[in-house]
Amino acid sequence: MFIGHFAIAYIFHYLFPSLPLWVALVGVSFPDLLWPILVILGIEKATMDPKSPLQKNIKFNHYPYSHSLVLSTAIAFVFGAIISILLNNTAILFLFPLLSASHWFLDAIVHRKDLPVLGFSKKDIKVGLGLWNHGKAAFVLEYIFYIILTIVFAPSSSLVLLLALGTLFHIANMNSFLGLTKTNSFAKGKYTYPIITLLGFGLFIILATLL
Ligand SMILES: [Zn+2]
Repeated sequence: MFIGHFAIAYIFHYLFPSLPLWVALVGVSFPDLLWPILVILGIEKATMDPKSPLQKNIKFNHYPYSHSLVLSTAIAFVFGAIISILLNNTAILFLFPLLSASHWFLDAIVHRKDLPVLGFSKKDIKVGLGLWNHGKAAFVLEYIFYIILTIVFAPSSSLVLLLALGTLFHIANMNSFLGLTKTNSFAKGKYTYPIITLLGFGLFIILATLL
C-alpha cells in the first residue's frame, strides 16, 4: 500500500494537533522507509518478477525488522523516542510507534500472507488478506480510502493540494495494480525497487509537508 498510509497520518494530525504533520507522515511510512535501506544492506530480502509489474507478484521473502507487527513497532518506538527528544515533544514517543503499527494493519489488508506478526520467531505466523490479488478493486478502494479520509481529516488549508498529490502518486503507482506493461522495469538490478520505494515515500512526505 502507498497513498492509503498517508490518510492515517492526517487522522493522527487532526486528533493530536501538537503532532507535526511531517512526523505523522514519517511514522505511517516508517516500515517502508526502513525496508529499502535493509534490503540494500542485505538484511531483508525481496524478489521481483521481471515479467510482471504487479505488487502481488513481489515475493517479500524476509522482512521481519521492517514489516512485523511486534518487532517493527519496537524499532519504531526507539526512533520515536529519538524524534521526541529532538523536538521536545512527549506525545511523539507514544504516537510514533502507533503510526508505524498502522502501516502493518493496512498492509495486512493488501499483502498476501507474508507479513510476520512477531518478527523474531522461526515459526512466526504470517498474515495478509491479499486484496492485491484483485488489482482493479485494490486500486479503486485505496484511492477512495485516501480521498474520503483526506477530505474529512486533512488540514483544510492544504486540502486541495493533498488531494491532487495523492491522485498524482496513485496514478504513478497504477501499473503495480493493473499490470499495464508485461515487464517490470523495477526488477532491473538489486537496488532499483528499494530506491524507487524510498524516493516515492520520501518525495510524498516532503511535498505534503511543504504544500
Ligand atoms: Zn509496507
